[in-house]
Amino acid sequence: MYKIGFIGLGIMGKPMARNLLKAGYKLIIYDINADVIKELIKDGAKEGKSSCDVASQSEVIITMLPNSPDVKEVVLGENGIIKGINPGSVLIDMSSIAPLVSRELAEKLLQKNVVMLDAPVSGGEPKAIEGTLAIMAGGPEETFNKVKDILNAMGSSVKLVGEIGSGNITKLANQIIVALNIAAISEAMVLATKAGVDPEKVYQAIRGGLAGSAALDAKMPMILNGNFKPGFRIELHIKDLINALNTAKELSVPDTLTSKVLEILQELKAEGKAKDDHGGIIQFYEKAAKVEVRKKA
Ligand code: NAD
Repeated sequence: MYKIGFIGLGIMGKPMARNLLKAGYKLIIYDINADVIKELIKDGAKEGKSSCDVASQSEVIITMLPNSPDVKEVVLGENGIIKGINPGSVLIDMSSIAPLVSRELAEKLLQKNVVMLDAPVSGGEPKAIEGTLAIMAGGPEETFNKVKDILNAMGSSVKLVGEIGSGNITKLANQIIVALNIAAISEAMVLATKAGVDPEKVYQAIRGGLAGSAALDAKMPMILNGNFKPGFRIELHIKDLINALNTAKELSVPDTLTSKVLEILQELKAEGKAKDDHGGIIQFYEKAAKVEVRKKA
């Protein structure tokens, strides 16, 4: 079994690392947040002193960090992975970042005889805990097959979609669909509530039909309880939609709906809601319509 390094143990990384420990892998971990390291040491992980140190002791290194600049810093920065990584190792970046950054990092690592996969995930914290994430990977098939068992310990749907960067392109598509879906749910449920119909009954009536979705089932119970604790933070969805818009501009494809939902997210951020769950998109509509979509007492 490969010795795995894991860097970035936040909302997603922590449960993913726990599932690797449960599957029997030896784990060396690093995060700038010392508290989370203590928790995982109790579960059997070993602490590395830096990203460089983690890389030097591992055969496969996984990163699960917020954004492109964080991954660049952890891979290329002072005490970064590239300084310690052994030739022949594999880096799996599971963060959602700009596809061009994945390609740039993969080229730099190849000079050290290290292959990189971009393998972002979907499913949020609940599926990270269950080990049932959807994992969408990009990179050479041979490397993907080499580390597939590791990915299977964290996800129930593990797919290679193409060359390096394809994982993050797929994730951008995923994030457009999720953001627009939550915005549509919000617009619809505020309308129904303002019209005097119980939103919980609306949800139950439509969830089995064509309007049903994983997003509806994940977010409606939270909305009905007024629970916007993340989950997936609005600020992270802003990051993903900006990456999607940049990619759409590069390719000259329309981004009409994505740019509209990005405006809504930016407005919520300006109101101090950047750290709310993205289910909090509904608050934009609730404020405008002066109604709250909540369970009846
Ligand atoms: P998070 O902010 O909870 O976790 C990030 C972790 O990285 C934190 O523990 C932080 O301390 C650590 N970190 C940051 N900079 C570091 C550095 N330089 N060195 C070491 N550690 C560092 O974020 P998250 O919600 O776990 O998301 C991680 C990635 O997964 C993001 O790209 C996000 O878009 C994506 N994602 C999140 C969800 C979700 O529901 N939260 C779902 C799918 C994908």
